[in-house]
Amino acid sequence: PQQDRVFNFAAGPATLPGNVLLKAQSELYNWNGSGMSVMEMSHRGKEFLSIIQKAESDLRALLQIPAQYSLLFLQGGATTQFAALPLNLCTPQDTVDYIVTGSWGDKAAKEAQKYCNPKVIWSGKSEKYTQIPSFYDFQQNPDARYLHICANETIHGVEFKDSNYPNPRNATGILVADMSSNFCSKPVDVSKFGVIYAGAQKNVGPSGVTIVIIRKDLIGNAQSFTPVMLDYKIHDENNSLYNTPPCYGIYMCGLVFEDLLKQGGLKEVEKNNKKKAQILFDAIDGSRGFYRCPVEKSVRSLMNVPFTLEKQELEGEFVKEAAKEKMVQLKGHRSVGGMRASIYNAMPMAGVEKLVAFMKDFQAKHA
Ligand code: PLP
Repeated sequence: PQQDRVFNFAAGPATLPGNVLLKAQSELYNWNGSGMSVMEMSHRGKEFLSIIQKAESDLRALLQIPAQYSLLFLQGGATTQFAALPLNLCTPQDTVDYIVTGSWGDKAAKEAQKYCNPKVIWSGKSEKYTQIPSFYDFQQNPDARYLHICANETIHGVEFKDSNYPNPRNATGILVADMSSNFCSKPVDVSKFGVIYAGAQKNVGPSGVTIVIIRKDLIGNAQSFTPVMLDYKIHDENNSLYNTPPCYGIYMCGLVFEDLLKQGGLKEVEKNNKKKAQILFDAIDGSRGFYRCPVEKSVRSLMNVPFTLEKQELEGEFVKEAAKEKMVQLKGHRSVGGMRASIYNAMPMAGVEKLVAFMKDFQAKHA
């Protein structure tokens, strides 16, 4: 029941669906008559195998993942993938292209420097990361092993839309995307990508689980010194059970996937997310400058909504007053300041409506 929960606008770990948490609670002590908790199970026993297999088939159904893609449940967060990608897809001499639309893409490119030769072919830094490039704004290196994007920049609130994913046109033609903060928020044509990866802790479960969706022909070329834990081939051959996986986290992700399917799948989920974002952006844009979102309108994220107050000195009060009304984690990232409302799948419409009503009241009080 919502009355004993807050509306949690955190960027991640973030709010999960209440019904999923209650289901997990009811199964915590004794899963499905097994006499034990999921976290006590052997990862090689038939109970846990049924859990991970269902999680995989539900996620495959949700994203309509084609058969020629492997789905891996790994650990270490998206940050570990910043290294795993060049380790698996390149030699140390290889060039790779990075489009940098925010802090996460920047971090990914910097980590890749240790293992290959990354080139930043477009950066939004001089515009304070408020834009997404169009096809004509950058030139790919003809021999780049892959082109990397961050599909949704969690801190800056810029998101690639279906229509502006870059189309890799060089010889390898491999597009790689960090989808940590918009994973499962909308349908995605997986076949456009060589690799999609995401930390779970925004839309689909607890931190610790990291999902990698990779075209099978890209597996098996890891650099010789790649740690086994970062080698996609090892995990693929062992169905994500090479070592002890984050069993409980995978179980929780499975419950979320089941819930998203019950909601009608990702088209429905996207519809709701669009409505929620629209209400919030309308409130910001309609405030006659009291609130402002710096991101170019056509590429605003449906998940992370950064905004500033015209009267900057009121920011602390805004966050404090909102918390009194059980709306928490609205402070912007320390690197950009201002406010940020993350409105992932599990943020109910009522949470966004309450925030918008609060914003209007706050403006009336301070205008
Ligand atoms: N990429 C994006 C887009 C993120 O939002 C985050 C974390 O917030 C990361 C990568 C890093 O993820 P992790 O903490 O799982 O390593």
